[in-house]
Order: sequence, then C-alpha cells, then structure tokens
Amino acid sequence: MTIKGNGVNAGWNLENSYLDLPEFFYSRLLPAPVSSPKLAVLNHPLAESLGLDPEALLKEGAAIFAGNRVPPGSIPLAQAYAGHQFGHFTMLGDGRAILLGEQITPKGERFDVQLKGSGRTPYSRGGDGRAVLGPMLREYIISEAMHALGIPTTRSLAVAATGDMVYREEALPGAVLTRIAASHIRVGTFQYAAKWGTVDDLRVLADYTLERHFSENRCSEDNDAANHEEDAFAYAPSSSYNCEDNGNKYIFLLSEVVRRQAFLIAKWQLAGFIHGVMNTDNMALSGETIDYGPCAFMDVFDPDTVFSSIDTHGRYAYGNQPIIAAWNLSRFADALLPLLHENERKAVEIAQNEVSKFNDLFYGYWFDGMRAKLGIFNDEPYDDDLVGYLLGMMLKYRADFTNTFRALTNDDTEGMDIFKTDEFIGWKMQWRARQSRQPQSPDEAYLLMLHNNPSVIPRNHRVEEALEAAVKYGDYSVMQKLLSVLSDPYSYSPEHEVYTTLPAPSSCPYQTFCGT
Ligand code: AMP
Ligand code: MG
Repeated sequence: MTIKGNGVNAGWNLENSYLDLPEFFYSRLLPAPVSSPKLAVLNHPLAESLGLDPEALLKEGAAIFAGNRVPPGSIPLAQAYAGHQFGHFTMLGDGRAILLGEQITPKGERFDVQLKGSGRTPYSRGGDGRAVLGPMLREYIISEAMHALGIPTTRSLAVAATGDMVYREEALPGAVLTRIAASHIRVGTFQYAAKWGTVDDLRVLADYTLERHFSENRCSEDNDAANHEEDAFAYAPSSSYNCEDNGNKYIFLLSEVVRRQAFLIAKWQLAGFIHGVMNTDNMALSGETIDYGPCAFMDVFDPDTVFSSIDTHGRYAYGNQPIIAAWNLSRFADALLPLLHENERKAVEIAQNEVSKFNDLFYGYWFDGMRAKLGIFNDEPYDDDLVGYLLGMMLKYRADFTNTFRALTNDDTEGMDIFKTDEFIGWKMQWRARQSRQPQSPDEAYLLMLHNNPSVIPRNHRVEEALEAAVKYGDYSVMQKLLSVLSDPYSYSPEHEVYTTLPAPSSCPYQTFCGT
C-alpha cells in the first residue's frame, strides 16, 4: 500500500480520459460534501477485482464514497447528455452524479467510478442533486443480482449514508451510491452532441466510444471475442467487420451497439427483468444495464407487467422492452447520421438497414436462451411452437415466470396450478420427446437448464424486507443474507428454498417509485 498526499491509497489507479473530449461534453466540479459520511455497504469482491483494498476502504472509504474527499488521481466531472424521456426529447446531464475517473484494474481494464447522489451540478435543473438511502441500497441489490445472473450491468461498489435528510414526499435519509460501469456513455450522449455540438464533436465522441468499447474486435476478420471467458458478450459473437470493406467505422459502431442491445434485452426477457424507465439517457453504449430506478423482476408471466408508478401507459412494460430498445436505437442512428454517409439519403438508408437487424438479432439471442431454459441444444423446426405454447399456458394460468422454469429444471411439477392441467401434461410429453431426439443425454440437458434457469431472483417482497430492516432499523444483516443468496442464483442449494416462495397474496399490486 502506498501513501499519497491524500491519505492512505487503497489502490486507486485513476485515469481521466473523458477529459480528452471537448469541454462541451462535461463540467468539472467537486462532489458536494455531506454532514456525516458512514459506509452502509461495501462490495468486497468488486473492490478486489478493481485492485482496491477493502480493508483500507473500510477505514478510509466513507469520506470518498460520500463525496467529502476525492481519491488520489481523480479529476471529478459531471457529464452532459440529452435524452428522450417517455418519448420527449430534453437536455439532461448528470444532475446528481459525479464521475471521479476511470479505475485501471490490475488486469488493465478501465471502469468508470461514479458517485450518484453527490450534490447539485450545472445539469441539476430543479433537482436537489441528492439520493435517498433506500433506493440506493435497492440499486445495489438489484445490480449485483443482475451481475450474478450473467446479465451485463453496471455494478455497485458502495453505498455511503450521508447523515443528511433528503426531502421527497417526506424527509428521508440521504445516501451516495458508487457505481462502476464500463462507461457512462449513453444514447443520450450522442443525442446531445448531434443536437448542440458540431459534427467534429460528434466524431470525437464516436471515436472515443469506439476506442473505449469496440477496439478489440474492430478491424479483425477473425474475431476472437468468443474466447474471452470473462467477457459478458462472449456468446454474442461480433458481426464481422473488415476495415477494408467499407472503411466506415461508424457503421460498425452502430451495428455493434445494435447487437449488444439485442443481446442485453434478450437477457432481460429471459430473466423476467423489467427496467421500468428505458429512456434514451438510460441506454448505455457499452451494452450494460444502467440506471436502476423503478425496475423490478416480474413474478407472474404477463407481457403487460409494469411496476413503475409513473409508467401509466405501460410504455416500458415487460413485453414492450424489445420494441422500445429498437426505438431507442433509431434515435442513436439519427444522432449518428452525419457520420454514416455524406449524402443524407444514403446515411438514412444505412441507418435503417443497421437498426432493422435488431429484431432478428434479438429473436435469435432470445430463442437460443429459451431453448437452453428448456434443456434443448439443437435446432428443430417446431421449437418455436414448443416455446410459444409454454408461454401461452403460463399466461393463461398466471404462472410465476422463474418458478415455472425452476420446477421444470427440478422435474418437480407438483405445486403450481399450471402443472395440473391436461394442456401441460400434453406439452410435457412433447417436450420430453423433443429432448430425447437430441444427441445429448438427459443429464446434459438437466445441466443446461440448471445454468439457464435461476433458482433465486431478487423477489420484490424480499428486497423490500431487506430495505426495511436496513433503513428503518439500521439492521443490514437481512440485506447481507439476501445479497449472499443472490450472488449464487444457479446453485439450487437448500438454503435458497425459502427465497423462492412468493409473497402472501396482497390486495395492492407491487409498485415502484421514481422519487429516488
Ligand atoms: P433518471 O430518471 O435517474 O434517469 O434521471 C433523469 C435525469 O434527472 C438525469 O439527468 C438525472 O441526473 C436527473 N436527476 C434525477 N434525480 C435528480 C436529483 N435529485 N437532482 C438533480 N437531478 C436529478
Ligand atoms: Mg438516467
């Protein structure tokens, strides 16, 4: 451990490459100090993978994670961006977030370290720049669960309580979340550049994004991304791109962003995850899930499921997520037009062609995932009927999404109503017959299902229970236990059993709120 001017260096190894962009893209400022920083939760494994020493962070981290002190090497800034919020375009930007810098890990990877809830910025509009403890702990739990499920996501390094009250409909305890992301470049960042910047600004941003996220597979005919085991996109092979072909790397950027989103949304659908607020400022070009606000996991399978209290028209309902992703990608393509071709008509043609690939890509990833959930390795003509019929029954009999697949995996089709029907009994025979036609053994099929059907997800009542204990009573043990179970969602261990049960029927449906 090295001692630097700023106290004990816990392993901070920050760079600030975002500052290389024109100043138009950010505002430099410090986080606003808080009264009484206290570490509520620290993610030890994540800290270690970033090259940070958890023990040192426990001792000294609260001041940094609350924004009272910046880590060595940090040049803090707030990022500018725009976005379509529920379809309406507006100027946004980090209204309550500060990018501390990019941590370079011992493996040489680069991750943004961002404080969320760190005070007002030039982009705060009417907001107070602050965040509430409950929702920050909620983001921590759900983002870590998503990571363990194998879904590309930003992660949570820490939550620090501030000791200050935040005023929403009532006075609530304040907190700052430290978010770790491949980057915070959003569709909205490009929209901002396209609307208020020059074409040069747009090009510089596109070049920076290519360099940051797509440099490995750019210009390589023989893409070896599939060999990177730890790459979240390992089984989303890149479309081949050859610099010699057309020379336009911005078309490649668009096609890769489309592909990564297709992969990500397929993963959401396969896990029953509902983001809740898929505005274009909440779509990251890295392909990570970002901005956990009113998100939640669906219990009963129903494409119309909406949890967010502000999504009154169901724009961001479970079943709409792929459609909205394609719409957002069209907004990204709009922003990129000047770089796609000098002739506007040709640029539009290129953009439409690239965005139109989303549907097939999404369906391909989703369908492969559905086959895997059913223990099917290969491809047969009527597989779509097999999947579609099951989903139809799940909808009709209001079956719990996760527990249906869990029961099929365990071959324990007793408890749920859906399994008592003649329809299901007939379907099951067809499904088993289908499995028996593949070369793989039943054991192999079982293992495939085990790896693709989580036993536990962050069920809403469990998350609420953990938050209540932490926020109301200062008891973090419920949350720690939940985090530990969620960190191993495919293990099917006996201690998971209790986390798979549904809440007692309640008269009011679960609702999530944006007032975070
Ligand atoms: P979100 O709904 O979290 O994606 O936020 C949308 C926009 O509102 C972003 O520009 C945020 O930075 C901004 N924002 C959200 N909450 C606050 C707040 N309490 N103070 C200032 N800006 C905020
Ligand atoms: Mg946002």
